[in-house]
Amino acid sequence: GHPGALLQVDDLHVAYGRVEAVTGVNLSVEAGQIVSVIGANGAGKSTLLAALIGALPSRGVIRYAGRDVRQMPLEDRVAAGMTLVPERRELFGSMTVEDNLQLGAYTQRAGMQSGLADVFRRFPRLLERRKQLAGTLSGGEQQMLAIGRALMARPKLLLLDEPSLGLAPLIVRDILHIVAELRDSGVTVLLVEQNARAALAISDYGYVLEGGHVKLEGPAARLADDPAVVASYLGG
Ligand code: ATP
Repeated sequence: GHPGALLQVDDLHVAYGRVEAVTGVNLSVEAGQIVSVIGANGAGKSTLLAALIGALPSRGVIRYAGRDVRQMPLEDRVAAGMTLVPERRELFGSMTVEDNLQLGAYTQRAGMQSGLADVFRRFPRLLERRKQLAGTLSGGEQQMLAIGRALMARPKLLLLDEPSLGLAPLIVRDILHIVAELRDSGVTVLLVEQNARAALAISDYGYVLEGGHVKLEGPAARLADDPAVVASYLGG
């Protein structure tokens, strides 16, 4: 293992009924890095993140900031600094941008104004649209709002599930640029992406998940050059 890691996962198993979707995953995330998990549809990426945040039960070890949080309730993990941005964004479409952001701060009521100021500084587009209903935002704006809402909880470890899903290439570039800026401002990121090339380009380290377990891992630049990764995940 990596003794100084912010997140250390050992032999993690997650099942839906009798079917295991995550079958013994080991991974670690060093503080201050972006670590990406890539893999095909159904490899278990979303299931892994759901278990890490506590939305699904699991077996094994999830060591975050030095303690095993595997059996800790989801809200306690959020209070301890883990936050998930789910794949389908799960915004409240008939509420405004600002109200959606305020809901993200439920563990941090004291810091509401400074939290909003920080999110609007990072996402000027959301400031312009703060009274707009979330359901009327573009796909890219909705992803910014989902990330902004997660930031309202002041995360140390951001778990990001497919932030580029359904977005045009230029918007994907903007979103991943924002993720890199978050890392540079001290937020550690575990990034799940199908858009493997773009994810590895901003990552420090990467894991390839296949059939619920880690098939390959390494520094992101090395994975991006690995012929097996290129052939299977980077489109030749
Ligand atoms: P995608 O990128 O398509 O979301 P993924 O790598 O995130 O794929 P998961 O969504 O974690 O994969 O799914 C892993 C496996 O678990 C798949 O075989 C999937 O069909 C199964 N699975 C996911 N959710 C459930 C569920 N609620 N009940 C039963 N099986 C599920």
